[in-house]
Amino acid sequence: MPKKTVSDVDAKDKIFLVRVDFNVPQDDAGDITDDRRIRMALPTIASILNRGGKAVLMSHLGRPSGKGFEQAFSLAPVAKRLGELLGKPVLLASDTGGADSHAKAKALLAGGVVVLENVRFNAGEKKGNDAAYVNGLATIADVYVNDAFGTCHRTEASMHAVPVAMKVVGKPAVCGFLVEKEMQYLSEAIARPKRPFVAILGGKKVSDKIAVINNLLAICDHVLIGGAMAYTFSLAEGGKTGKSLVEKDKIDLAKQLIAQGGTKLVLPVDTHCADDFSASANKQIVKAGQIPDGFEGLDIGPDTAKQYAAIIRSAGTVVWNGPMGVFEMPPFDAGTKTVAEAVAQATAKGAVTIIGGGDSAAAIEQMGYADRVSHVSTGGGASLEMLEGKAFETVAVLDDK
Ligand code: AMP
Repeated sequence: MPKKTVSDVDAKDKIFLVRVDFNVPQDDAGDITDDRRIRMALPTIASILNRGGKAVLMSHLGRPSGKGFEQAFSLAPVAKRLGELLGKPVLLASDTGGADSHAKAKALLAGGVVVLENVRFNAGEKKGNDAAYVNGLATIADVYVNDAFGTCHRTEASMHAVPVAMKVVGKPAVCGFLVEKEMQYLSEAIARPKRPFVAILGGKKVSDKIAVINNLLAICDHVLIGGAMAYTFSLAEGGKTGKSLVEKDKIDLAKQLIAQGGTKLVLPVDTHCADDFSASANKQIVKAGQIPDGFEGLDIGPDTAKQYAAIIRSAGTVVWNGPMGVFEMPPFDAGTKTVAEAVAQATAKGAVTIIGGGDSAAAIEQMGYADRVSHVSTGGGASLEMLEGKAFETVAVLDDK
């Protein structure tokens, strides 16, 4: 059922409580190294402010202990960056739904913005049902907006109990434009894919992605496997994997997925391996399943990359989660790069191409392909759960159109 969005609600002089995902990466000095998550929320914030509304923003940042304020996890740098992006002052409340939040929200003029301190400074955020905490947030605003796609798979208080409490007293609870866009791309791709539908799965562990592989094998035409997780499949086929990262307790599962997948499940034919986890190690390219003792696989080999690129170029829909190798360390970025180039070429030919968040999004951004694909998701865990076919309670709770 389609959900109401922020533009379906009258904004004039109304206070909007917007759950955003401003969980941005920071360096040791606390400077924001990538503000994409802030920029992605701007359309929703602008829609509120430009129509004479007031925005109260809340987010988590990192993993504080939940026992009160911790400087390292303060949203102060985020509020500052948001002010620069909006070109207007952005206030920071020192609490999350407490006296300072209420005072600052009440004092807002039309077009004003306040950011509340990190929701995870409060134990009630994770518990989800702490009435005083939930009430403090629910009573601050006239309208609730969920624009935190990266957190949609978590039913924490600001994502679920707060909109529930606001709805009980008749306040609207709607989604923001980012959540709307993410849900549209991911759910459309899964429900009505243009074929061939190709999934590319990589990264470290098979165990993280079992549910995704299962679901995608049922709906995709090809599931291409890369990254370290390919070596557990190789072991399942009786191959030699040297000192590669493998999950021995997942061999039976890999056997089962190979049997279930048939020709849909495509495994690497060669591997770029090295005798040390370093760019300057001794390297060789070997056939899959023939990694010598003392060597570890760090990337798909060139034949695999070529074969995967050909399948990707002829796709109608592509979803990609997890790099093909250690993309952070050249030359083991080569497989991920070839695949990224093929995804960009498929996009240019009219395919719908979706990059899951997390490391795949980082890889595609770092390699300069972010503007040449249809959609780069802001949510790692959330996009994986959508690819697993799960529905989000945090979105279900929002008002239907
Ligand atoms: P994930 O979070 O499961 O998507 O895994 C992403 C991480 O897997 C990245 O940091 C990659 O460097 C790493 N990775 C990919 N392939 C390999 C490999 N063959 N050996 C070790 N790490 C890998």
